[in-house]
Amino acid sequence: MTDDLFDEALLLIQSKSDGVLQSELWKLLNVDSRKCSRIVRKLIDTGMVERHEYRKNGIKTYLLRSTKKRVIDPSLLMAGEYLIPCIGCERECVVETCELLLDWMYELAFANFEE
Ligand code: SF4
Repeated sequence: MTDDLFDEALLLIQSKSDGVLQSELWKLLNVDSRKCSRIVRKLIDTGMVERHEYRKNGIKTYLLRSTKKRVIDPSLLMAGEYLIPCIGCERECVVETCELLLDWMYELAFANFEE
């Protein structure tokens, strides 16, 4: 197996936040299903990909997803100088009626308006 195929498979899986079906991956890589299985085995062994059973039209396949944690831009949690109130919140959460979140969203609207 070439490293190029391994890298290509990894990039394909990482580029899809919902994951890639193994039954589709081998077609995308233009290899046969046995070769694809070996690539997937190697990806799983390296810990970069996880595999879950999945049924599509009643047929069993696997959903492959990247284990790479996404880096979150901390500025997305800020409205101006106000941190989103959900961080560390211990209230019983009802998002639709939460006045803390609503206040924060107003701040966010103002912060974006002033930019
Ligand atoms: S929406 Fe309100 S109650 Fe829910 S976690 Fe955020 S701040 Fe807390």
